[in-house]
Amino acid sequence: MSIERNNVLPAQKELERQQEFIDSIRKQNDAYAKETGRQKKFYSLAMGCQMNAHDSEKLEGMLTEMGYVATQEESEADMIIYNTCCVRENAELKVYGKLGWLKHYKKEHPDAIIALCGCMMQQDSVLQTLRQKYRHVDVVFGTFNLYKLPELLQTRLESGRTVYDIWQEHRETVEDLPQIRHFPYKASVNIMFGCNNFCSYCIVPYVRGRERSRQPQDILQEVKKLSADGVKEIMLLGQNVNSYGKTLEEPISFAKLLRMVHEVEGIERIRFMTSHPKDLSDELIETMAELPKVCNNLHLPVQSGSSRILQEMNRHYSKEDYLLLVEKVRKAIPDITLSTDIMVGFPGEEEEDFLETLDVVKKADYSTAFTFIYSKRTGTPAAVMENQVPEEVVKERFSRLLETLDDGIHRLHEKLLGQTVIVFAEECSKQDSHILTGRTEHNTLVHFAADQTDIGQFVPVKLTENKTYYMIGERVTGE
Ligand code: SF4
Repeated sequence: MSIERNNVLPAQKELERQQEFIDSIRKQNDAYAKETGRQKKFYSLAMGCQMNAHDSEKLEGMLTEMGYVATQEESEADMIIYNTCCVRENAELKVYGKLGWLKHYKKEHPDAIIALCGCMMQQDSVLQTLRQKYRHVDVVFGTFNLYKLPELLQTRLESGRTVYDIWQEHRETVEDLPQIRHFPYKASVNIMFGCNNFCSYCIVPYVRGRERSRQPQDILQEVKKLSADGVKEIMLLGQNVNSYGKTLEEPISFAKLLRMVHEVEGIERIRFMTSHPKDLSDELIETMAELPKVCNNLHLPVQSGSSRILQEMNRHYSKEDYLLLVEKVRKAIPDITLSTDIMVGFPGEEEEDFLETLDVVKKADYSTAFTFIYSKRTGTPAAVMENQVPEEVVKERFSRLLETLDDGIHRLHEKLLGQTVIVFAEECSKQDSHILTGRTEHNTLVHFAADQTDIGQFVPVKLTENKTYYMIGERVTGE
């Protein structure tokens, strides 16, 4: 069964409409709990980027309002939802692997509902495969209509048939969806959706559509609500935050938005990602330098250090442009830390191109990096480039890249040993409840022994051990 509604209601009406479906499912789930003494459970998995993680918080919020309770055990769930990612092939293979397992699960639990959503579902080839080989899936929707989960679920429950509802483009941004936050004291806020950049390897513009910025007043309202709820650290999210606001009826720059968010009482730290180097403005650098709540940490994806490859990637900057930008940022904010995304094995990458990448890594002095092996994405210009790099060459380069990065990160963290830094304590360590983990303004991950009452507090910690990707510290008391 496919659902297609051409006339989308205005956002507020749509929200009210979905609330009716939420209430109806809640009634059914409450009746089930009364009859069986057991509440229905949902298992939610977000794959890929922070945008997906954030979207999943909304899906989980809606499911909770529908009377489901969260479980970490997939094998006891009545409702299983995967928010998929298609940026790399591995993530897609993982979904198919899991769907294979779910086929057996569904045989044993015929009433369980399996829902798939997110980027991967925006691709026709995937939908075709699902329709042919994975007919045990119950609900399928994409990136543009996440808010319709209650309606789609209700349709599935009533009809007993698979519901497909994929939109090819954005129609309406529905604000104020219920949300389950994974951390009580920090939260992400979407400031925009989609991307206009069409980097030649990237599928995102095809599956998430053109860039759309949220109204600044809606963003502010959300941040204020979060602050009233106890949130102290905000991460502003967008595929390219530096072009935020350009397409609004009343255009506004990202730097101006930062100033507005900075005014919100109770918010003590502001982070943002991702910043495309080609759009990083002087105004933003100055604003970061000026506003104390904006963390001195910047994620600036370089992808490659070779100007030739960068051109093939359609990134609109050269190695020299990038390094000049790094210099400019460091001059304005001397203690800033930089993180990045780096891809190895883009088609046509020669050894000399890769050496340029290593050169940038050494010069930019990154404190963290997300590293990727190029993954061919059907539908992107890079997928049809002929000179794909052999796998063994890519693997060898990848391990050299990690070595170089590790050296740099270790060296950077060595300099911090003995210093007392302020850590925002986020949660208990998963292995040991006496150990807390948190981050400094510069995004250094720190583990330290402390009482759980420190969670949600900014606490002084003396850094005592360098573990390259994180540091061990001692909670400083009496301050
Ligand atoms: S900026 Fe490039 S890499 Fe990032 S989402 Fe847009 S197209 Fe993809």
